[in-house]
Amino acid sequence: MFVDKVQVVVKAGDGGNGVVSFRHEKYVDKGGPDGGDGGKGGDIVFVASQNQNTLATFRYHKELKSEPGQAGSKRRKHGKSGADLVILVPVGTVVLSENDEILADLASDDQQAVLANGGNGGFGNAHFVSSRRQAPRIAEKGEPGDKLTLTLELKMIADVGLVGLPNAGKSTLLASLSNARPEIADYPFTTLTPNLGVVDVDNSTSLLFADIPGLIEGASKGKGLGDDFLRHVERTSVLLHLIDIYQDTAAAYKTIQKELKDYSVDLTKRPEIVVLNKIDGVEPAVVKQKLAELRQAVPNRTPIVAISAASKDGVPSLLRKLKSLVSKQRQVKT
Ligand code: GDP
Ligand code: MG
Repeated sequence: MFVDKVQVVVKAGDGGNGVVSFRHEKYVDKGGPDGGDGGKGGDIVFVASQNQNTLATFRYHKELKSEPGQAGSKRRKHGKSGADLVILVPVGTVVLSENDEILADLASDDQQAVLANGGNGGFGNAHFVSSRRQAPRIAEKGEPGDKLTLTLELKMIADVGLVGLPNAGKSTLLASLSNARPEIADYPFTTLTPNLGVVDVDNSTSLLFADIPGLIEGASKGKGLGDDFLRHVERTSVLLHLIDIYQDTAAAYKTIQKELKDYSVDLTKRPEIVVLNKIDGVEPAVVKQKLAELRQAVPNRTPIVAISAASKDGVPSLLRKLKSLVSKQRQVKT
């Protein structure tokens, strides 16, 4: 499994302070104590939601705070409690403490866990009246809310498998797209490190890219990929086939198609998008001609786009296409 990880700091709201106050009554110098209690600070609650599929938001918002409680006031009035902060995370998110203890395993839709408690409010002086102490001038401070550093982990299946001949530009494309490099956990093989990247398309969609060719080469050399990985490749939604414009593009396409067909699961059945790379520095007329040559080799329904991984020309529009292909596939599966 690939594991995407982010670290966040959560700070639950502090409790409000209790207050010291005395009733004002006509003709009475000092009325009874009537200082109210402070309100409780808001909790921080994580909720698993099927509508989330990414930890992307937490790469940009690393500090999560809930509201503090308000101070008490006269006439024994309680301070208002702070609102809880409810944080939606994808189903399958595991929350760990700084010592790598599992604090919550949010495995089903709507499952909730309070991960940081708001502080209790302090008592106002009205609380401290006793027979010996008729006019207490003391009140408590609110307790501080919990502050914790948490690690969120999400196991991911690759959405987009990158294929292409050596030097097509796969690593370059991955590097120019990625915001994050997920960890690879528990692979039964060590000789092959798949090239991976998480691409955040928007706040609720990330795509996990995996460079599959390295794996294909490994598999054909009989390095014995674990069943785990095969399952993984099988579940990859979309293949992105990258082709170098400086090569015989039709021949390059056919070579890879044959490998995909011979793979232990026939990967040619996967939805595919063919991407002609390195169009920077190439005359538009040549790009057009190369696209036409490719069209002859590629099945009619398979989209072909032209990009430069180096200059990012055409890359945003490629991402949008991938996003829509992947979300169609996700719907098919669920
Ligand atoms: P990989 O073997 O498929 O991972 O290919 P690499 O990403 O290592 O790229 C192979 C070579 O092509 C490198 O020298 C890259 O700098 C070059 N390259 C990759 N993308 C582009 C591109 O869009 N334009 C140009 N001009 N060169 C590129
Ligand atoms: Mg490479």
